[in-house]
Amino acid sequence: MLHDNITIGNNGHLYFAGMDTVELAKKYGTPLYLVDENKIRENCRIYIECVKKYFGEKSIPLFASKSLCYLDLYRILKEEGTGVDVVSGGELYTALKAGFPAERMFFHGNNKTDEEIEYGIKSGVGYFVVDNKEELDTVSETASKYGVTQKILLRLSPGIDPHTHKAVVTGSVDSKFGTAIETGQAMELTKYALKKPNVYLVGFHCHIGSQIFEHTPFSDAAKIMLQFIADVRAETGVLADMLNLGGGIGVRYVEEHPEVDIDLIFRSIKNEVDNFCRKKGFESPTILFEMGRYISANAGMTLYTVGSFKSITGYKNYVSIDGGMTDNPRYALYQSPYTVVVANRANEEKSVVATIAGRCCESGDLIQEDVAIQPCKKGDILAVLVTGAYNYAMASHYNRLPKPAMVSIRDKADRLVVRRETYEDLLRNEILIES
Ligand SMILES: *Cc1c(COP(=O)(O)O)cnc(C)c1O
Repeated sequence: MLHDNITIGNNGHLYFAGMDTVELAKKYGTPLYLVDENKIRENCRIYIECVKKYFGEKSIPLFASKSLCYLDLYRILKEEGTGVDVVSGGELYTALKAGFPAERMFFHGNNKTDEEIEYGIKSGVGYFVVDNKEELDTVSETASKYGVTQKILLRLSPGIDPHTHKAVVTGSVDSKFGTAIETGQAMELTKYALKKPNVYLVGFHCHIGSQIFEHTPFSDAAKIMLQFIADVRAETGVLADMLNLGGGIGVRYVEEHPEVDIDLIFRSIKNEVDNFCRKKGFESPTILFEMGRYISANAGMTLYTVGSFKSITGYKNYVSIDGGMTDNPRYALYQSPYTVVVANRANEEKSVVATIAGRCCESGDLIQEDVAIQPCKKGDILAVLVTGAYNYAMASHYNRLPKPAMVSIRDKADRLVVRRETYEDLLRNEILIES
């Protein structure tokens, strides 16, 4: 079903990573996040192998922490040999606490605070991906304070429309991220960076968007970025060492989504890079990527307990679950498609159409609208598939719902990696003023 770690057992139950999801729901309670550690490793290996094959040993295949971030994940990533990008002090702290090497980290974000910049430099973060001039000034001053030279890349917007949902397009000229090439501001910032003390400009970065299945947006972005690198060389004599093309490879959430061909994507980027560099007569910069959902999405699943099946006669069916936008806000945010299965009736036909509703006090708190699903009733276990990316990472406490637990599965052994929050956890930082 969608991915090879999702199967149906002889008992008719939905299995994930070889484990009976109904049993896991019973053991740990719901809502429950599941992570398939073997799948994370497998995705890392395919990705790393592909990157090495086309872009050589110097390239660092990065994982985008923002898609999934918890302590134990960095143990896995470290073992698999990826680098990571982090976008906040919190992500940086988590990765450092897990013993992830700082020199394999890229610090992202369109508005890093001065404190975060200091924390990153103090910790020895390998690269800063600098968004704007103010940040560049702060990085330079802070690096000088610590007597170091900080390696940086500049985040640029290449002006690309990758034909994906507008909320996940990030490389257009009017994007809040980075500095635009088209307006001449990227060149200005580059010249400024080259003169700055205590920073070493190693190259450039772009990230055009997410959930992209075709190879052309990536190779188009590569071409634009390389042209910029050529222009910089012509105007300043400096040739960039590194070009980070971001993440964004698409993932199958529903049957209609194609199987992505990661080899084809990397191969066509490689062709574009080689052709361009040959024509211009310069050596190719080291090409980097930072995939998020490609690594994490199909390594996750979420389990809920059904509270009610409500049929509004002549209108609509609702299946109410014990979680919702607090553990998965992606449908509410951008109508992301998901596949849902009644885990204890996975072998039955999906003969009803229903809307899966969360328990928050918002009409928009839905997981999917009008999807085909097995008939279900109170007490059934509902599984939402392919939730490894941007679910736990985006979870909130709205309506004071404690965040779910997360269980990691490896070789058919289940281990808790995130404890279920308690009511006490919710009040951890709150102070009642004595009257
Ligand atoms: C979101 C993001 C990524 C990862 O995107 P995916 O679609 O999850 O691969 C990589 N780089 C940057 C800068 C991002 O903002």
